[in-house]
Amino acid sequence: MELHELSIQQAHELLSSREISSEEITGAYLKRIHKIDSRVKSYVTVSEKVALNQAKDADQRLQASEGLSPLIGIPYSAKDSLSTRGIPTTCSSKILENYKPFYDCTAIHKLKSTSAVLLGKTNMDEFGMGSSTENSGFFTTRNPWNLDYVPGGSSGGSAAAVAAGLAVFTLGEDTGGSVRMPAGFCGVTGLKTTYGRVSRYGLIPLVSSFDTIGPMARSAYDVALVLEAIAGHDSKDSTSRLEPTGQYTEVLKRAKNLRGLRVGIPKEYFAEGLNIEVDAALKTAIKQIESLGAEAVEVSLPYTQYAIPVYYLILFAEASSNLAKYDGVRFGLSERNGKDLMDVYLKSREAGFGAETKRRIMLGTFALSAGYYDAYYLKAQKVRTLIRQDFQKAFEQVDALITPVAPTTAFRIGEKITNPLDMYLSDAHVVAVNLAGIPALSVPCGFSSAGLPIGMQIMGPHLSEEMLLKIGHLYQSQTDWHTKHPPCW
Ligand code: GLN
Repeated sequence: MELHELSIQQAHELLSSREISSEEITGAYLKRIHKIDSRVKSYVTVSEKVALNQAKDADQRLQASEGLSPLIGIPYSAKDSLSTRGIPTTCSSKILENYKPFYDCTAIHKLKSTSAVLLGKTNMDEFGMGSSTENSGFFTTRNPWNLDYVPGGSSGGSAAAVAAGLAVFTLGEDTGGSVRMPAGFCGVTGLKTTYGRVSRYGLIPLVSSFDTIGPMARSAYDVALVLEAIAGHDSKDSTSRLEPTGQYTEVLKRAKNLRGLRVGIPKEYFAEGLNIEVDAALKTAIKQIESLGAEAVEVSLPYTQYAIPVYYLILFAEASSNLAKYDGVRFGLSERNGKDLMDVYLKSREAGFGAETKRRIMLGTFALSAGYYDAYYLKAQKVRTLIRQDFQKAFEQVDALITPVAPTTAFRIGEKITNPLDMYLSDAHVVAVNLAGIPALSVPCGFSSAGLPIGMQIMGPHLSEEMLLKIGHLYQSQTDWHTKHPPCW
């Protein structure tokens, strides 16, 4: 077995018995990044020096056998919207191209305290706006399974890095599917956490009321290990949850079957427009879940049809307000040759933001303007409540819901980029979860005839991460989709 093939658990065993060192495994990953990433393009910044220093520190701690976290010495990557002290954090936007934060976001800070090793920052759609990474201000990441296809978005760089063996695990941000969708398209396991379960402190916001941070890795078990390290209340984020974190890996170690569990199959997610190969893979996966002891029943989430318009309307509004701070004065790109202050604002924003970002700022500003606020933003918030209630009602009947992650497998680069509406519709199965603030897990459950991964989404009530990971873990103990690797592996 080569070093990049080790799971977190396997690497941890070898590191703690000192059969390998963190410097060795980190070096092996950096070498692979140099060799392969010019094709996949998953990283925007490779923080080689930092990684090697962190690996040295990890090795010292391993030698002293002190505080052996399962993540000690393990190389990972993080989406470029997570603030990293002294390391560029660009959100894949020209407007932040030279921005180096003065502090770490809480999730990175927590990983630092476990002595995990940060390899670098991964590519994304600008500020998280997109479903393919084609909206990155720098370059498009490619799907490791077929380089002509998108990896999904907006955390496409993160998912591609894990799929291609360029990081053991990664952190993504999910505001409207950005962890689950790329995880599904790239054949890795990704968790959208309950809103507030992982602190948002230091995550550059897209939509403050939807944003979450979540891990992606090669198995549900590895995801659980990472969640254990990053979850929990944070006094720096007043929206973070107070409840104690779950015993994620303990639950998985004890898990034997799914007896007594009721899973709902929402009929709206299996309607017209669903690709037949995705449909077939999901049906087989549901049978597998039933064979583990769960009972599957059909349920209905009638407001699903409004999820896309409601999500995008709220997103445009909140994002336009969050992006107002980039004015060419305080930080980020600045076009100082303006004739007056307004000219500096306009020129900096014109040069710094990409087309999709500008489109969303304009739509959001319109939706929030006097006279339209009630008709659009307020109305959308009301329907958001109805969508949330859909889930509440469903969870009175069932413990979890199973759906496809996306209506299709990954699409070709360029296929949807000129048609924003078509691009938005690829999020049809993921955004309702963010409107409700609930958690959902994406697990690989098959391949299309073209050899592209298919993802299953498992949703649960607030703070049900333990249950979701248990379903994913037991499913993975019976199937081998998550162990398959793309050609560049
Ligand atoms: N596809 C979603 C969008 O474009 C992704 C948002 C996200 O999760 N960052 O808004």
